[in-house]
Amino acid sequence: MRFITALAALSLTTLGLATPASAAVPAKSSTAEGYGGAIATVDATATAAGLEVLRRGGNAVDAAVAAAATLGVTEPFASGIGGGGFFVYYDARTRKVFTIDGREAGPASMTPAYFVNPATGQPYAFDEARVSGLSVGVPGTLATWKSAAEQWGTRSLSSALTEAAKVADRGYVVDGEFRRQVTENAGAFGQFDATKALYLPGGLPPAVGTTIRNPDLAATYREIARKGTGAFYRGSIGADLLKTVKNPAISDSPSSPWAYPIRPGVLTASDLARYQVRHPAPTRADYQGLTVYGMSTPSSGGTTVGEALNILEASPLDSASTVEKLHYYLEASALAFADRGRYIGADTPQSTLRELLSDRWAKQRACQISPDRALTKPVAPGPSGCTPSVTAATPDTGMSTTNLTVADRWGNVVEYTLTLEQFGGNGMVVPGRGFMLNNELTDFNFTGTQGTFADPNLPGPGKRPRSSMSPTIVLRDGKPFLAVGAPGGSTIITTVLQIIYGRLGLGLTLPQALAAPRAAQRNTAGIQAEPAFHTTYGPALTSLGHVFGPDAPEIGAATAIEFTRHGGQLAVAEPVRRGGGAAAVVRPRG
Ligand code: GLU
Repeated sequence: MRFITALAALSLTTLGLATPASAAVPAKSSTAEGYGGAIATVDATATAAGLEVLRRGGNAVDAAVAAAATLGVTEPFASGIGGGGFFVYYDARTRKVFTIDGREAGPASMTPAYFVNPATGQPYAFDEARVSGLSVGVPGTLATWKSAAEQWGTRSLSSALTEAAKVADRGYVVDGEFRRQVTENAGAFGQFDATKALYLPGGLPPAVGTTIRNPDLAATYREIARKGTGAFYRGSIGADLLKTVKNPAISDSPSSPWAYPIRPGVLTASDLARYQVRHPAPTRADYQGLTVYGMSTPSSGGTTVGEALNILEASPLDSASTVEKLHYYLEASALAFADRGRYIGADTPQSTLRELLSDRWAKQRACQISPDRALTKPVAPGPSGCTPSVTAATPDTGMSTTNLTVADRWGNVVEYTLTLEQFGGNGMVVPGRGFMLNNELTDFNFTGTQGTFADPNLPGPGKRPRSSMSPTIVLRDGKPFLAVGAPGGSTIITTVLQIIYGRLGLGLTLPQALAAPRAAQRNTAGIQAEPAFHTTYGPALTSLGHVFGPDAPEIGAATAIEFTRHGGQLAVAEPVRRGGGAAAVVRPRG
């Protein structure tokens, strides 16, 4: 969504000319079809950076790391080296899917009562926990890039960081979406001088059309490029990060009042030094003869998308109308969310994950769905036979994250979702370093949500909070058919599910499946829908007993690539949501 000279620079550098020094707005398209490699991100600059790598012979992993490092500059509130994410990779040579869990980790001293105020015995308000040092988990993004580049890449992480540093120096132009993200977070950002200096010039959100440069981030990227990621996890950059967490640099003259005390965190140098990415086996579900690979715990994305698809597969939908199919989509999602709440956290045993993704489990969940009457929400988790029952449930909050999809000429594919949790994470730019800190630890439940049952997502020592991020790769006969991912808190799951279902269950094209109006049933009393979904399907679904509300202006901002039978690639980004994304291919068709 934010534009600089990258596409223009691309053609100039291809011609061997110098990169221009000022920011400009390149053209972008939400759909691109062709050959030789493809990429889709939310941001034209990041797409251009990845495309350039693909054109110069880099593979999908090289391009994904380059695009992600660029997003760290141009999408600073949804990504960056202060955050974490999940990277799913299809390796064409071995025909296997691998994952990287780069989720933020809590401090070793973390206890289940971490987000309970000791003075009152009550959990902190969300914003009180968010805008503090307490919410910051050890960032996993840089370690993810390093792991991906070293295992599967052909270019160094240093080269990606060096290129992205140029973008930070040159700057990017503020658009309406960027300004909106600052405006919504101006209260939090205004508490910290380093954040104000970058994103609240003169105490106000930057005007559309302003160029933002971030020389501190450029220097940080270059330092890591020179010294390696140890500079972050064990060196001076990490020391500055810890200083900010333990002693938040609160402004003497905040640009607006803040309702809560800004508490220090307890992360230590050994928490930082100990951090390692994990490589869990992907989750797997079979749907319509295709194999759907997703992200395992600590993300709930793979199991929840997979379980819902299994439930849909076990439902009698062959001659169903669109409304009937959407009814089953909403019911399957609610049932899968109930199981997510009860069973999924960082420590869920493999045997439970296998059971939740089994056909047996899907059958006993599917048989609760009535063809002509919506279940009363929230539904209880399984196993509970075919008789539905009702429970209490707490939905998650959060809408900020970013996602990218890349494929190369050899058939390797990356689906990568990364985040700081809320837009702008905990609100703090690390002084002198130019990157923002995550507030990922607020993805833990602050207190138990499962009544007398254990809550799988309470804080614990070194634990990673449950995520909804759902980077997904679908194979047909062992080869990529579709890769898709999205931002949007726990609506990530419903967005990815609805796109896969739209493409495979409703017979939409991929661009149609992304553009289609969305609805999220996360086992809450009301369905959260975009207005166009509510208007189009609301009356028919309401007559089946579905309840709507509150609506959301937009849900998710997905990216995807579909692989055609003739070796072509169709890259798709959002046509409208979040200002529209950018899709590109190396050799356009025709
Ligand atoms: N923190 C969220 C998660 O991991 C993502 C944040 C968002 O997309 O709003 O599920």
